[in-house]
Amino acid sequence: MTLERLHMLIDGDWTEAASGSVFTSLNPANGQAWAELPDAGEADVDRAVRAAQTAFDRPEWRNLPAGARGKMLRRLGDLVEQNRERLAVLETRDNGKLIRETRGQLGYLPEFFHYAAGLADKVEGSTLPIDKTDMFAFTRPEPLGVVAAIIPWNSPLYLTAIKLAPALAAGNAIVIKPSEHASASILELARLAGEAGFPAGIVNVVTGLGPTAGAALTRHPLVRRIAFTGGPETARHVVRASAENFAQLSLELGGKSANIVFDDAELESAVNGVVAGIFAASGQSCVAGARLLVEDGIYDRFVAALTERMARIRIGDPIDPESDMGPMATEAQLGVVERMVAEAKAEGATVLAGAQRPAGHDAGWYYEPTLLSCPSADLSVVRNEVFGPVAAILRFKGEAQAVAMANDSAYALAAGIWTRDIARGHRMARDVRAGIVWVNTYRAVSAMAPIGGFGLSGYGREGGIESVLDYTALKTVWINL
Ligand code: NAD
Repeated sequence: MTLERLHMLIDGDWTEAASGSVFTSLNPANGQAWAELPDAGEADVDRAVRAAQTAFDRPEWRNLPAGARGKMLRRLGDLVEQNRERLAVLETRDNGKLIRETRGQLGYLPEFFHYAAGLADKVEGSTLPIDKTDMFAFTRPEPLGVVAAIIPWNSPLYLTAIKLAPALAAGNAIVIKPSEHASASILELARLAGEAGFPAGIVNVVTGLGPTAGAALTRHPLVRRIAFTGGPETARHVVRASAENFAQLSLELGGKSANIVFDDAELESAVNGVVAGIFAASGQSCVAGARLLVEDGIYDRFVAALTERMARIRIGDPIDPESDMGPMATEAQLGVVERMVAEAKAEGATVLAGAQRPAGHDAGWYYEPTLLSCPSADLSVVRNEVFGPVAAILRFKGEAQAVAMANDSAYALAAGIWTRDIARGHRMARDVRAGIVWVNTYRAVSAMAPIGGFGLSGYGREGGIESVLDYTALKTVWINL
């Protein structure tokens, strides 16, 4: 098979790495290499960051009215809409996410650009009521300069859009470092940004490996803000690198989110919500509802309904719209899942479903949807993120125990509550420690709704009305009258 040759985007040019070195991207559905990309080194990253700084400093960009940036963002949203199918296929081939899921994400992605477009000319400072009659003082939110966006492989377009749109609305320039496992759709998004009118150098993409290209970007002295999404271990490197230049940070990290089913839950919706919560993207989702806490009175019925529903999940090629679950994005991730399931069994977990590679799918990196009954919350599979299609199920009795168990985690990204008692839904939403709480739903998403976590899930929020302000810094101006 001939490999597609992709290039990275620096200062409006589609370019190679200075060293000429490349890496390959594999198709998770069959394990075959399908594309070759530039393996950016320190010199390439430096070139991209300097190009972004130069583009940021140009009067054509600095003095562009905010409304004009808004128009470009609106066009970009429209272009994403028009190219939805092509972008979906590109992303599915690169990271193995179901075509149904990439199409679904691309359905709401234009909203992220349109929403930020509307905010671009509403970034306001204030006049300060100072106690001096001969002075006038006011604040101006100003763009920061060069923003670095570091993206993981599980939802490249969505996780880029949620950074790119507000960063551009605020008037910054950006250098994006996609995951080495999924760069293709982001390169295409950057091409569309050029088509939408963003000048050369305002949107750059460096392709390459985390420890080289990613590390060079996070420690570059001209980078003023790093928007990072990825794992906590990588985040520690990023935080250390940011300390060199005190770059501002937002960290969207992993999770071990609790999906809590009460006795009075509507069984069918709860089962569907739990299945979507953990098995979407083959469990490779930061908000995966991987800890199922189920109340004593409904436990047996719930397990029966859930395992029956899981048996109907069709595993298959992610490009096939009939498939319900695709492969792991990388072979290494499949190895992690197998290791963690083996460890859970050794620690006393009982397999209620799955826990093996499916028959007849030897070429790709597939794993069956898996349900593990866990005798205690101390099992490593209850404590640690698997990032695969593995749900750990535990019993509880009553609200107080549900809250205690839900909050017994170093992560705190998302939570689901399933109950017909809406007052209880409110109480749980208040008491469960998580950045997002869904009551009788899971995975609802909108450009208007901030996402982010606490603890090992990171800090900072993305999305929502304040997201543009996060890409600005306030300047205070005093004028002697
Ligand atoms: P990862 O941490 O391995 O990689 C993320 C990005 O960081 C990649 O682009 C990688 O190349 C880069 N990177 C690696 N080492 C680096 C370094 N030393 N310096 C700078 N950059 C470096 O994560 P992943 O395996 O791609 O994604 C899975 C993780 O992402 C999971 O933990 C998941 O929960 C998390 N995630 C979080 C969210 C969220 O919104 N909270 C969303 C999706 C994924």
